[in-house]
Amino acid sequence: MASLYIRPRARIFHGHDWVYASEVERASGSPVDGSVVTLKDLRARPLGSAIYNSRSQIVARRFSRQRQELDPDFFRRRIAQAVQHRERHGMDPRLQRVVWSKSDGLPGVVLDRYGDLLVLQTLTLAMDQQRMLIADAAASVLGIDQVYERNDAPVRAAEGMDPRTGPLLGGVPGPFEVQYDGVRFTVDPSGGHKTGLYLDQRRNHGIVAAVAKGRRVLDCFSNQGAFALFCARVGASEVRAVESSADCCSAIRANAAVNGLAVEAIEANAFDFLKAEEQAGARYGLIILDPPPFARNKAAAGDALRGYKELQLRALKMLDPDGILATFSCSHHVGEAAFLETLVDASVDARRHLRLLQRLTQPLDHPILPHLPETEYLRGLLLDALPGR
Ligand code: SAH
Repeated sequence: MASLYIRPRARIFHGHDWVYASEVERASGSPVDGSVVTLKDLRARPLGSAIYNSRSQIVARRFSRQRQELDPDFFRRRIAQAVQHRERHGMDPRLQRVVWSKSDGLPGVVLDRYGDLLVLQTLTLAMDQQRMLIADAAASVLGIDQVYERNDAPVRAAEGMDPRTGPLLGGVPGPFEVQYDGVRFTVDPSGGHKTGLYLDQRRNHGIVAAVAKGRRVLDCFSNQGAFALFCARVGASEVRAVESSADCCSAIRANAAVNGLAVEAIEANAFDFLKAEEQAGARYGLIILDPPPFARNKAAAGDALRGYKELQLRALKMLDPDGILATFSCSHHVGEAAFLETLVDASVDARRHLRLLQRLTQPLDHPILPHLPETEYLRGLLLDALPGR
């Protein structure tokens, strides 16, 4: 097995699992892209096994502290461990992210379960090459015979891989219905956004909706309408969902109809919509802001912060005196402190006093590992306005 010799002070010596090209002193045994390498310190002491790709900025990603090959037994073991973690914490087994990449010891592997279907993404070269093994292992651990590959995430380009979608086991799934917390959704794995639903927001839909009763709600960046539908269900006085994708707007309308709920889907750019509404003097009792990741790399973090601030400022100007704001960031490169600062800036400019009701985060099927800070990406703030101050 080829080896990489890692320079002192590299992040791997501080518990991290990533190796950047600049951290490699030398290689031995000509490592091949997509293969497993052994990591060693400069005294040749082993640091574990990693997947290698010279085309990626992160040339090696450690997946085990031991010597380990990518074989069927390894995949079955890792998937079983991931399943056990979710079971132990009482997560709905039929609708969950079963494996989330490095957080579950399988860098680049994302596996979602929707009832009797598994949806697989392999975002690193080594895992992509092993995707049939992974599909087989997942199918056997979970007793499922349909695995669909949804490999069209743009991040694959960073590993030099083309987009690809299609069935790995079983046929092409048509659209079907799933339910959680009493709301029905149509999932279309071969057509919808991401792999279907935004499972990372699943718990937050109910938490935010719990304050929606009697309020006029605006759900911005609604995707398939999840926040909007949950708010309508608890008795919001009116619910509007803003979404730029026409397909998503159709999905919102269809989901509303199937649940017998009143949600108005508005196809628009949320920035433009908020501006127009503000100018028209609109008022809302609850505004939800859940934009896509604005910062896909460190360099874009500044733009992301400006984006968050603009959205929050416009929302705060339209909030009822006792209104509630739910604001989210899923940008990996925007930290807690910076996100909070955008909100403080926006509230100062809007001359609104806010009180934090709850910090919101990602659920346990998107595990956060403190030694891998990149695993924490979803941040949310639920706040109410203090009238008359
Ligand atoms: N709130 C959703 C997830 C939102 S994902 C949920 O909880 O399930 C972000 C969504 O924003 C995507 O559906 C995307 O199509 C939409 N989007 C991206 N840019 C937008 C824009 N400028 N205006 C409105 N919607 C946008």
